[in-house]
Amino acid sequence: MISCIMLHKKTLLCAATSVALLFGSCASAQAAVVASLKPLGFIASAITDGVTDTQVLLPDGASEHDYSLRPSDIKRLQSADLVVWIGPEMEAFMHKPVTQFASQKQIALAELSAVKPLLMKGSDADEHDDHEHHHDSGKRDEDHHHGEYNMHLWLSPEVARLSAVAIHEKLVELMPQSKAKLDANLQHFEAQLAAADKQLTSTLAPLKGKGYFVFHDAYGYFEKHYGLTPLGHFTVNPEIQPGAQRLHDIRTQLVEQKAVCVFAEPQFRPAVIEAVARGTQVRMGTLDPLGTAIKLGPDSYTQFLTQLSDQYSSCLKGD
Ligand SMILES: [Zn+2]
Repeated sequence: MISCIMLHKKTLLCAATSVALLFGSCASAQAAVVASLKPLGFIASAITDGVTDTQVLLPDGASEHDYSLRPSDIKRLQSADLVVWIGPEMEAFMHKPVTQFASQKQIALAELSAVKPLLMKGSDADEHDDHEHHHDSGKRDEDHHHGEYNMHLWLSPEVARLSAVAIHEKLVELMPQSKAKLDANLQHFEAQLAAADKQLTSTLAPLKGKGYFVFHDAYGYFEKHYGLTPLGHFTVNPEIQPGAQRLHDIRTQLVEQKAVCVFAEPQFRPAVIEAVARGTQVRMGTLDPLGTAIKLGPDSYTQFLTQLSDQYSSCLKGD
């Protein structure tokens, strides 16, 4: 009956706030689970289905690398029962507010002991000599340092499963009265994921060896898992334009016909990608690393993986 008391308290709080503010969403003050990024919301919403609400902090179209929390985001984080995020090396913008939380109120996925051994090195080391992007501020360098590892963990089906397990475990602690439903949700998630993984493995197998460039260095976990073979990326951070030397190198590889595709992203279609591919046989595709158009729900994470797989194969397969 703890949940009824909690709900009642929050409803009262919500009513009081809405009288004071005359606007604003009561639902956002009641979010039980707040995920930093949409794909983490996909995983969390599968586990919370029919039990409690999951919300996503980062708005569609925003970059996971450069976001500033609004006052309403801070409120949402503070009122959440559980915050799910990658960790300060990905969502630097959350570091400060989250340090104020008790550890039982948050899960930093990169810090899970089961996840740590699976971390892949990032490939930004080779870009540290690419100084052209540093013109816009010194502040960015300190706000946005890239760590040693690739932190796009949601693109790993293995890490996704471990994340679901960790979210399930934490929610069973927080709401033991819902254990049966939470257990069933985890079981459903794992079964769906295993089926999608099998499907993707066979869809993507014939694409092994096809060369391509991605826009930003996000896809390493997915590519490694499914045996895809990228030639490289334009940039580590989609907010930072690649330097002239890198563009020249990419262009050289495209011209030499080593690449079949270059992939842009829905919110980043910089003219440089088109310019670099112009006059070559290289096809242009789009990869969406955040699943922008997909709605949260029990099967949303596998929809997200399937969409990404379709985006790879429709461009790489060609005609
Ligand atoms: Zn990224």
